[in-house]
Amino acid sequence: METKILKSNRKNCELQMRNPDKLIIKVPRKGSEEILANNKEFIDTWVALKTIGFKNYIKPENMPLNDTELEELYDKAYILFRERLDFYAEIMNTWYTDLKIKNYKSFMGCLKADYINRNITVKLNIALALAPVEILDAIIVHELCHTTLPYHDEEFYRKVLKYCPDYWKRIQWLWQECNILQFRINGYIHKIVC
Ligand SMILES: [Zn+2]
Repeated sequence: METKILKSNRKNCELQMRNPDKLIIKVPRKGSEEILANNKEFIDTWVALKTIGFKNYIKPENMPLNDTELEELYDKAYILFRERLDFYAEIMNTWYTDLKIKNYKSFMGCLKADYINRNITVKLNIALALAPVEILDAIIVHELCHTTLPYHDEEFYRKVLKYCPDYWKRIQWLWQECNILQFRINGYIHKIVC
């Protein structure tokens, strides 16, 4: 396998395998040799798991979407995501102002609240449009709970579970499948390591 090490002024490491034959390791310039030596076992394990993963991904139903399919997915997502957000905002007695949908690299959902200007933006990952609607609903409930509760504490999860009783079952599905969803959007998978 070809391994490419890219050193830069970054703070953390990132591993990428765009195909089963090429591994890219991005490392901070400072102390790079030590970081690579200390993480060798982790990197080897990650590569082994990803290689097995690739065999599962390379199935006709998991192939990355082409540009036209991706465009159609965004069109569908803007209608569906807004519909589900409006539904939950009403029953949860809350509100939002904007919806942004993107191929976010590090989260499925995120909420940005600016109460002074009365602006609440919900950011949702386009990959959710490939998941069953129950999974999208779980993320939406989570984000809308943040309109009043900023921290992931007991009260927060009590509220999440009130509107989505099998929240953890749905999130577990997402943890298992998110690499495949990401692969279908990007054509590759990546993971932040440290
Ligand atoms: Zn959260």
